[in-house]
This record gives sequence, structure tokens and C-alpha cells, in this order.
Amino acid sequence: MKIKTLNKKSSTVIAAMLFLVLTANVSFKPDEGMYPLSEIRKLDLKAAGLKIDINEVYNPDGISLIDALVNVGGCTGSFVSKDGLIITNHHCSFGAVSRASTTEKNYLENGFKASTTEEEIPAQGMISKITVGYEDVSEQILEAANEAKNVSGRTDAIRKKIKEITKEAEEKQPGIVAEVSEMFSGQTYILFKYQIFKDVRLVYVPPRNIGEFGGESDNWVWPRHTGDFSFVRAYVAPDGSPAEYSKDNIPFKPKRYLKVNPNGVDEGDFIFILGYPGRTFRHQPSQFLMMQQNYSMPYIQNLYQWLIKLYEERGENDPEFALDFASRIKGLANTEKNYRGKLKGLHRLDLLDKKQKEEKELQKFIENDKQLKEKYGDVLGNIKMVYDEILQLGRVPLFLSQLMRHATSIRLAALLNDYREQFKLSESERPSIFKEDNRKELIKRIDDIYSFFYPELDKKIITKMLLDAASFPEGERLTKLEAFPLEDNTKNRIDENVDNMISNSVINNKEAYKALFEKSEEEIKDFNEPLLQFVAAIEAERKHLEEAGKEREGKLNLLLAEFMDAKKVWLNKAFIPDANGTLRLTYGYVRGYAPSDAVYFKPITTLGGVIEKGEETGDYKLNEKVKELFKKKNFGRFKNEKLNDVPVAILYNTDTSGGNSGSPILNAHGEIIGVNFDRAFEATINDFVWSEDYSRSIGVDIRYVLWVTQKVGGADFLLKEMGVKL
Ligand code: ASP
Repeated sequence: MKIKTLNKKSSTVIAAMLFLVLTANVSFKPDEGMYPLSEIRKLDLKAAGLKIDINEVYNPDGISLIDALVNVGGCTGSFVSKDGLIITNHHCSFGAVSRASTTEKNYLENGFKASTTEEEIPAQGMISKITVGYEDVSEQILEAANEAKNVSGRTDAIRKKIKEITKEAEEKQPGIVAEVSEMFSGQTYILFKYQIFKDVRLVYVPPRNIGEFGGESDNWVWPRHTGDFSFVRAYVAPDGSPAEYSKDNIPFKPKRYLKVNPNGVDEGDFIFILGYPGRTFRHQPSQFLMMQQNYSMPYIQNLYQWLIKLYEERGENDPEFALDFASRIKGLANTEKNYRGKLKGLHRLDLLDKKQKEEKELQKFIENDKQLKEKYGDVLGNIKMVYDEILQLGRVPLFLSQLMRHATSIRLAALLNDYREQFKLSESERPSIFKEDNRKELIKRIDDIYSFFYPELDKKIITKMLLDAASFPEGERLTKLEAFPLEDNTKNRIDENVDNMISNSVINNKEAYKALFEKSEEEIKDFNEPLLQFVAAIEAERKHLEEAGKEREGKLNLLLAEFMDAKKVWLNKAFIPDANGTLRLTYGYVRGYAPSDAVYFKPITTLGGVIEKGEETGDYKLNEKVKELFKKKNFGRFKNEKLNDVPVAILYNTDTSGGNSGSPILNAHGEIIGVNFDRAFEATINDFVWSEDYSRSIGVDIRYVLWVTQKVGGADFLLKEMGVKL
């Protein structure tokens, strides 16, 4: 992987450098860490326990372990054979497996195994990518930002520059996809280059009662006994270029793949994790936390709890519906429980109060120094002013986006409205989906949306969401919208209005709805109905908020940069950027913890524990084959002598987040000994603050992965492909 760091010339960067000179004794000693590639080589990993050279882990001028890492549809995976075999989590391929399943051929329930490459089937939605390079583009972005006439122009300027940079990079290197990631708001921007795999296929997926053993009861919980792993394979065109699924495609040959170590690890061992953690918010100001704690998380938690119940009840006697909605329910439940954990953690730690006190201290520190006061004296006050506006909007922006997300009728109406509106745009401004050559894609999009269209459910969802919104004090503006189906207990009951709006809409007739997309501007201009009017009003409100949001974003872009600078001087230390979906390394040790008074959790679980938890039905339904093998003590070479059993899951004190799902857990020699898949309940708060006391991540032990693959799945050929000697 090649790096190119540009010389920093712009005025902002010069100012930043002067600042660094002023504070030259800033140390690089962060006590927690999801380290970006640029920081890895600054770490003393040898002292921490690494037994290989740092160049083996990350080498900007050559091949290293980093080259074995894959982003698998937002999760992480790693190559474990020379033929593009990827190991990731079961929950990362869950959506693809359910899409490939029918009630007759239910791979989700029974598992999937392709004994030859010909038998591998498309893993829909698991588009994958590997990082092939990166470059610091802060100078160009900040230069463009500083040229903007006003703060709201700043947001547009940054977005425009990012588009230009990515377009140029993609043109220069055809076949790659470029993305610019903000590492520190208003300070550091990195251009990442990715190679994409559009053809990914399922290879081996354990049955659901292994891959999801413990279900929602055990999700975000330790001790854990879930075999949360699966194998997929990346394919490319015969010439090595990215390609959609085709029979002619060939398995991708990675530059580097991980060595599988079937001996696993032990308590206390050094481990490290590479992966693509999604988002953390540790460098955000206290008001951000206030917004999350008071508005965003309680709102989402309540809504998702309600949706889960709605879908589960609907699916009780309808296996097809249950299968179609399995992945959606799982996603909602995962977030709902995560937020529950976070809210509990926020209150337990009184984190908001701590952050507020910390900011008061910082303000005092700034005011004690004339130079600092001149430079940063107003920063915290100005941040508060921006957030006062955001807090005033409260749940409204979330309501608008969630309505669009969960109510299929709204999505159908929005698509039709967009079609009508696009006639007013110039050719270049028109969404590509409405271009003549993209007809097939448009029809596919419509069919996809319709596959989740259940008018009766939609009516309930929209009614609930509108009732909620009508009760928000901050939602007053919404209820004044002309098209809002108001509730005033006499004539305008929300449920009746929603019922009428949906029942009388064209969306109930798929063919008639599709036919509208054939119509010309003239033919469609007078077509209207209450649902379309309502959705147009909602969309207009969203656009209005987005415009106002640009100004706030522009202000925060400047203010958060100054906030970070002030904090650096105050704490006299360097920070590492919050997670943002880019490649990171974190390290730690296999270690237990004490979640509450007088309770200590050991860090390794066993197959015996699976049997202990196992039941006939529900979340702990025991796999028959597992039961039988355990009875015969058929552990093969995966038995751990000390435990006299097969290790199942491990716990360790690394710094991980969502997106680290499927990350390889590597031992001191850089060999894979497990697959990360979760965190303990207390560690859901990691996204706001990390602590040695409670931040623990959970992985499936490679010995259980291999044992299940061989003994339950009968897929010895995969062990052979990975070079595991039996
Ligand atoms: N299980 C988690 C997820 O689904 C992984 C994590 O957040 O630690 O996102």
C-alpha cells in the first residue's frame, strides 16, 4: 500500500503547524485506541507483546497483514486462503442468507454449505472492499473551505471539493472507488482508495441455532456461546477487475491472507484486532451527548421496540413473512438493545455531568492565559449556541428520516414525487435512476420496495409515528404543516386520515403505480392525491432543515477544530480520531472483568456451556448434532487440555465498535485465533467513552469455528483450503 503525504502549505495548515510548535511537547500517549494506519507505526507494539515486526502488521511500502483485511458490506472480514476465502460473522451474512432462503430451502435455519466453488451462491448485499491506498487531502479541502463566502457555503465547499477529489482519483485509477473521510472535523481529511468486490458468494454458514445461539437474549452479553461466523468468497472478472456476478468470474487472489492458528489463545495472551469500526463520538462536545441521551436514543429505542413487536406478531403464523423480515427485525433489535445499554451506561457513569464539568475546567484553563483566551475564549460558548438550535429541533429531524425509512408507502410516494419533480431539473441535475438507460434499475428499485409493502402495517406505523410527533413539544412546526393529518378528536383523527390516505392511493395497485413512471411531464403534472401531498410536505420540511443544517455544520466544522486544539493544549496530549468506518488497529489482552459488585466473569466459555444453556426451543435451541458430538466428547484436535473442552467464545479488552463485527482477532504472531462479533453490555458505552474497567469485546474462538465447520458442517475441505492440519 502506497502513501503520499502532501506538504502542508495553506494558511490554516501553517497556523496549525505554528500551533504545534507552540505545543511541541504534546505526547502521543492515548490510553485507548482505534489507531488509524498513519498511527500504527508510532505504537510500541513490541512492548505490548507483539512478536513480529511492525512491518509485518503494516507496511506502507510493501505487503502486510493489512492487505488481508476486507470491509464486508459494513462489517469486517479477512482473507484466509489464497483463493479469496473470507471469514466474517454469521450476523454479517445473515441478510444475504435470508435473501437466498425460501421456506422450503431455508439456509438461514439449516445452514448453507457449498462443497465445490460451483455450488457457491451469490451473497446479495455483501459488496466488499479492500483498502488499496490513502492520501492526506486536508490541505485541498481546507483551502476550498476557507475560500467560501460564509459558513453555510463552507459546508457546500467541502462537499464539492470532496466530490472533485474522489472523481479525479477514480479517473486516475480506473477500477477503484475513492472516498474522503473526515478524521478530525475541520482539520484532517484522508482520501481512501478501495478495490470493490461486487461478486461475493456464500461458502459455509452454520445453522441459525449455532450462528445465532442465544439470540437477542444473549446479544450484547457475556458469557457468550454463539458460533457467530460464516465463510464467503470474493470473485473478480477473469482479468482481475471488479465485476457483477457472472459464471465466468474467478476467485480473487489476495496479496496477503491470514494464517489460521488452530491452537487458539489463553487467558492473559496479547491479541490485536484489525477492522473497520463504524462510528464513535468521543470527541464531541457535551451538548452532543445531551442530544443523544435526551432525544435521539430514547426516541429510537421506543420506536424500534414497537416495530419489533409489530413485525414479530405479524410473522407469528406466516413463516414467509417471518423469513422476509428476519434480517430487518434483527437489525432493529441490535440497535434497540445497544441504545438500552448506552442509556444505562450514561446514567450509571453520569457521563453528561462529567463532560460538562470537564468543559467548565477547560474554559477556566483558557481564561487563565491571555493568548489562549484570545484564541479560544469564545469556542465553547459558540458551540453551545449552535447546539441550542439543534436541541430546539429535538426529535423532528429523526422523525422525518425514520418515517421515510420504515413506512414503505412513504417511500413509494416519495419516489413518485421525485419522478414528477425531476422534469423541472436540468439534464445534469436529474437523478440517474430516472434516465432512460436506467429503466431496469428503476423497475428493480420499485419491486424491491414493494417486497416490503404491507399496507395494513404501514397504516399502523405512520399513525404511531405521527401521534408521537404530534406530542413532541418541539414538533409544533410539523403539526402546522398543511398536509399533516392532524388529530383534533373531532373530524381529523390521525388513524382515520392515515387509513384513507393509504387506502385511496395508487400505490395499492402496483401496475398502475409503475405505469405512472411511463408518463410524460404533461401527462403526470395534474396527478395528485393526499398521500403524495403529505409526502411532498414532509420532504419540503426535510429540505428546509437540511439547508439550515448546512450553516450549523459549517460553524461546527470550524468550532470543533478549535475545540480539539484547545483540548490538546489543556491535556498536553495527542488524540486519535473517532472511528469513521476506516481501517483501524486496536490491541489488548484476553481478560475477564467485574461487571457489578462481587461478580467476576472469566474470559473463555466452552462447549459444555453451550449444552448447559441449551433448550428445546427459543433463543437457546440446541443444535442436535452439537448435542450428539458433545455427548461422545468428539472434540477432535480442538480440545483445550486445560479446559478439557472446546473453547467457544473469548473476551478481551480491546477498543472496538460496530463495524468491527467480523474482524480477525490476531495473536502475537499475527495469526488468526478468533473472529470478533460483539461487546459486553457495559461496553456499548464505548462509542462515547472507553474504560479498562468495563470495555470488553467478544469473539468466537477459532477452535469453535473449526470444530463446527468440520464436525457439524462436514466441510473438511475448508480446513484444508485454510491449511489447517488435523
Ligand atoms: N455486535 C456488534 C454489532 O453488531 C459489534 C459491536 O458493535 O461491537 O454492531
